[in-house]
Amino acid sequence: MTGETIFSRIIKGEIPCDEIYSDDKCIAFRDIEPQAPVHILVIPKKTIVNLKEVGAEEQELLGHLLLISAQIAKKEGLEDWRTVINTGAEAGQTVFHLHIHIIGGRKLNWPPG
Ligand code: AMP
Repeated sequence: MTGETIFSRIIKGEIPCDEIYSDDKCIAFRDIEPQAPVHILVIPKKTIVNLKEVGAEEQELLGHLLLISAQIAKKEGLEDWRTVINTGAEAGQTVFHLHIHIIGGRKLNWPPG
């Protein structure tokens, strides 16, 4: 499944975002509806719907996204943080372009809702 999403439009520069990082593989920007003092999304530039459709060929990209998310969290001054990947509507995914949430800056409860 490869459809246009709000994130693919952000990647193309058609919609503005509060960008904080970009490289040849991914872009990171602040969530428009932050759930914590720090709430950043890291997304691949390649169109991937979610983890249901990734194969072994994406191993390097997935590792890159996680490493970048950790670098960003530390750069934001976070000691502790949560990385979340919602996969599918029942899990809370609303934008069907793979993204990692970096959430921190307050005490986070577990289990999530
Ligand atoms: P999810 O529910 O896991 O699919 O997360 C989608 C996230 O994208 C939500 O936290 C939204 O607040 C966020 N979001 C939606 N549109 C935008 C946008 N234009 N810029 C930044 N974040 C957005």
